[in-house]
Amino acid sequence: MYVNIELCKKCQGKCCKNYPGIALPKDFGNTKEEIFKNLIKAFKSGKWSIDWDKNEEYFVRPSIKGRKFYIFDHAISGECVFLTEKGCKLSLEKRPSGCLLLEPRESEKCIQHLTKRNTINEWKKFKEILLNAAIEVDKFEVEL
Ligand code: SF4
Ligand code: SF4
Repeated sequence: MYVNIELCKKCQGKCCKNYPGIALPKDFGNTKEEIFKNLIKAFKSGKWSIDWDKNEEYFVRPSIKGRKFYIFDHAISGECVFLTEKGCKLSLEKRPSGCLLLEPRESEKCIQHLTKRNTINEWKKFKEILLNAAIEVDKFEVEL
């Protein structure tokens, strides 16, 4: 985990303004059941979305401002819903791995230690759970 509160405060979250950090399945729990339950909770909050790469392989990230409640959302860039004037609204324990593994450096030369490829490979193992969680939330919305 890489945290440099002073440096990020000075920068005012350029990374968060550009695109939200990517989450890993383990950010939602340690078991398949926990991950499924917490993904449903996350999608119902409207603050988390499923995105995909050029090969249509899925991953999860915070939603983008103005695009809350889009469970599936493919965006090239946009500001993370959790960014406030005072910084990230989430405690360190709740932040996506992609945020915690971005090493803050001077002159915006921050280094990402979690690749999109690795993230996608992790989500591939939970694809069924991910899609089932999205279907569950969709059903819930239809019932409302
Ligand atoms: S990680 Fe880098 S880009 Fe993001 S807020 Fe910190 S210094 Fe700025
Ligand atoms: S979750 Fe927090 S640290 Fe990560 S991109 Fe969003 S505002 Fe930035």
